[in-house]
Amino acid sequence: MTDFEGIRALVTGGASGIGRATAELLAERGARVAVLDLAKADAPFLAYEADVTDDASVRQAVTDAVADLGGLDVLVNNAGIGAQGTVEDNDDAEWHRVLDVNVVGMVRTARACLPHLRESSHAAIVNTCSIAATAGLPQRALYSATKGAVYSLTLAMAADHVREGIRVNCVNPGTADTPWIGRLLDAADDPATERAALQARQPTGRLVTAAEVAGAIAYLASPLSGATTGTALAVDGGMQGL
Ligand code: NAD
Repeated sequence: MTDFEGIRALVTGGASGIGRATAELLAERGARVAVLDLAKADAPFLAYEADVTDDASVRQAVTDAVADLGGLDVLVNNAGIGAQGTVEDNDDAEWHRVLDVNVVGMVRTARACLPHLRESSHAAIVNTCSIAATAGLPQRALYSATKGAVYSLTLAMAADHVREGIRVNCVNPGTADTPWIGRLLDAADDPATERAALQARQPTGRLVTAAEVAGAIAYLASPLSGATTGTALAVDGGMQGL
């Protein structure tokens, strides 16, 4: 794994799950890391409170983070929320709410970060997408549509910014064992049975770990992937390939 010494990184949704594991990995490898989340992360990173649905709060947090980091090389656009159901289950307000966090939230954060990334000699954006973007999962119409949009956004941004030296890629996790999945399982009638069933559906027989997704994000954020832009890296235990 590469050295992140001298790299300045901002991770959205960095207080929990995949975002937190990514912040920890980048910091462990020498990066200076700032996390942006709804509440200040209880962790040894620079932490900024912002809601990705609120443009002013995102701009303020990015301005503060960049000032404290002394610049910006890497944006990990990771904050996101879930939604369950078919198209008949979620009303317009719910569609707008989840699209606002999962898609426009990434756009707002990228917009605030791009002027700073242009100043970097090794700029990279990594968006957290999902296998839901391409897998056709049942009961995930709204969530899948948001991640399909994140996938297309990744390709379009990669094309727009490649000549500025800014790479843009995404990771497509399968079911990753984070507090989010913990909350879903806790809401089931029998969480232990539900977890066992979920694990049995994975080709590997286990859930992906947040650290494994963080590893893929770190690779795409590092010079090791210097010729890679506009790609999606699956971290799904073989869910889609096998
Ligand atoms: P998580 O709930 O553990 O962490 C998500 C973080 O995002 C939380 O700290 C939360 O406070 C933050 N967040 C939510 N809304 C926000 C907002 N409006 N503004 C700022 N921060 C906000 O979830 P996770 O499982 O770590 O998910 C992280 C990302 O990974 C999401 O984009 C999710 O869609 C994606 N993902 C997760 C899985 C999985 O199985 N866990 C699979 C595929 C993709």
